[in-house]
Formats: sequence, structure tokens, C-alpha cells
Amino acid sequence: MPRRNEVTRERYETTSTSQTEALGAGLAATLSAGEVVLVEGELGAGKTTFVRGACRALGVRGPVTSPTFTIGQRYPAPVPVSHVDLFRVPGLRGEDPDLLADYLGPDTIAFVEWPRGEEDVLAGLARIAARVRIAHGGGDRRVVEIASSGTATA
Ligand code: ADP
Ligand code: MG
Repeated sequence: MPRRNEVTRERYETTSTSQTEALGAGLAATLSAGEVVLVEGELGAGKTTFVRGACRALGVRGPVTSPTFTIGQRYPAPVPVSHVDLFRVPGLRGEDPDLLADYLGPDTIAFVEWPRGEEDVLAGLARIAARVRIAHGGGDRRVVEIASSGTATA
């Protein structure tokens, strides 16, 4: 049988950071080691807020902020969690191919902000479990779209 990859799409509107964090927590409950979630959206849309909610639900303690001086952070948790932000990385191709391998792998649950053109590289390191897109909706309103790929079956 051909490989099946069901996709469910959900669309939410939030009006506070805690609501966006709660969506992240809800997605986190569906994730397993070896999976990565791609998080897209303009600056200030709420990508890091969403990831923070997911990290909390996965057992990460302490601050969850956008990585600043590196492309990513690793947080200890029952299943280790990585948080990568590629905003300042103009393109990984031709650069150190191991750059992302420090953060994505079979033992980790990973979140990548600004995945842009790196999906092939990311997909080689982890299973893309979901794509999240967050858009400004005026004031504190945000539109959060979550496309989850169901577990692939052989
Ligand atoms: P990004 O990582 O996409 O650049 P952040 O999560 O770092 O965005 O920042 C989102 C900003 O928007 C924060 O200052 C947060 O307080 C604010 N905000 C206001 N309303 C919301 C909402 N509904 N969801 C998420 N963030 C919100
Ligand atoms: Mg961010």
C-alpha cells in the first residue's frame, strides 16, 4: 500500500497570549520524539508564544524565549525539546550541514520558527508532524492555523 499521510487542518482565533499558549499545549500533547513542528508567521505574530505553551506542556521549566545568539536552544524535559529560530539564517544550504542536526533528531521534539526554504533539510532529520501559521488579526487577535500530518502508515 502506498504511504498515507492524512492532514487535518484547524483554524483558531485567539485574543491573548495565554490562549495562544494553550493551543501550543494542545498540539504538544500529540507529539512524539523524532518529530518537528514548523511555525511560521510575521515578527510578533506569536510564534514563540505558541512554542512556549508547547514547551510548558512538555515539561520544560524556566524561560522559553527566542534564541538570540544561537540558532537554537535545547531544553531538558522528559523528552528533550529543541527550539530553533532561523530568522537570521539566510539559508543553510552550503553552510554547516550539522547546524540543525544539533537540534533535530530521533530523541527530540523540535519546534522551528521561520523554517522557510529549509524544509527538506528539516524533513531529513525529523518527521514534520505539523505546520503552524500565525497571523495578526488586529490588536491582540491572532489567527492560528494548524495543519497536522497524521502518522504515516506503510
Ligand atoms: P514571534 O515569535 O512570532 O515573533 P512572540 O511570540 O515573540 O512572536 O511575540 C508575540 C507578541 O504579541 C508578544 O508581545 C505577545 O504579548 C503579543 N500578543 C498579543 N496578543 C497575542 C495573542 N493572542 N497571541 C500571542 N501573542 C500575543
Ligand atoms: Mg519568535
